[in-house]
Amino acid sequence: MTSTDDRRVAIVTGAASGIGRATAELFAERGHRVLAVDIDERGLAGLAGDLVTLAGDVSAEPVNQAAVQTALDLFGRIDTVVLNAGTGGTPPLETPGAVDAADRIFGVNLRGPIHGLRAAIPALRATGGSAIFTASVAGLRGDPGNWAYNASKGALINLVRAFAIDYAAQGVRVNALAPGLTRTGITANVHQDPRLLAAIERRIPLGRFAEPVEQAEAIWFLASPAAGYITGTTLVVDGGLDANLGILP
Ligand code: NAD
Repeated sequence: MTSTDDRRVAIVTGAASGIGRATAELFAERGHRVLAVDIDERGLAGLAGDLVTLAGDVSAEPVNQAAVQTALDLFGRIDTVVLNAGTGGTPPLETPGAVDAADRIFGVNLRGPIHGLRAAIPALRATGGSAIFTASVAGLRGDPGNWAYNASKGALINLVRAFAIDYAAQGVRVNALAPGLTRTGITANVHQDPRLLAAIERRIPLGRFAEPVEQAEAIWFLASPAAGYITGTTLVVDGGLDANLGILP
């Protein structure tokens, strides 16, 4: 059944935790109808606000198609897709099976957003909507021991350029967010180690990790009509980390 409600509609992946959760909740709080997608069903159950949830693995095509179909069935339109689900855990290059193990990271971080955009394009074309990929500052610079994650995020940054060109004439904008260090599940291990945390925070000009909602605000901006002339770009939200040569201790 299609809704007669004309509120804007967003799909957010990786919405059970961290940046995705903050984004789904912010969009819902500001009047969007939101479909929150994640592999973590229990995490989805803990979301605050009036949200619809869908559990599944975004690295495969079916859940991406199901997300679009569900949003269209329930809400009748899609204005924004936030393709945010991501994972780390890069295996050391010389360990057995490292390249095959990296396929899991490429699957979630790269194939996931590609499937997500592919599934959503017809609906985004209909609304003049936009897609936002969550990349990373690790897609702009090398990060020790993180080659597979670096590769996946670097690829996303160039993919938004490619897709932005391909879909601009159809009125669909495609951008990326490059978060710096943000206090979420992915960085939880750092917060358990006060010395490591302090050493990292010294490298960040603003002197602290971002809160997830600070990334969500940037996604909100990229999705909004205020960003109507912005496509093919990557918004870096990193407290100055990428600007810092970082030579002095
Ligand atoms: P998080 O671990 O809190 O959230 C990631 C979410 O993605 C989780 O809810 C997880 O269940 C979900 N997810 C993982 N694999 C999935 C799959 N196959 N299918 C569906 N959902 C899946 O971490 P976060 O920091 O909020 O991560 C969000 C995005 O931000 C990721 O793309 C991450 O790479 C990126 N990022 C995070 C940081 C940071 O410092 N936290 C920095 C740069 C980029």
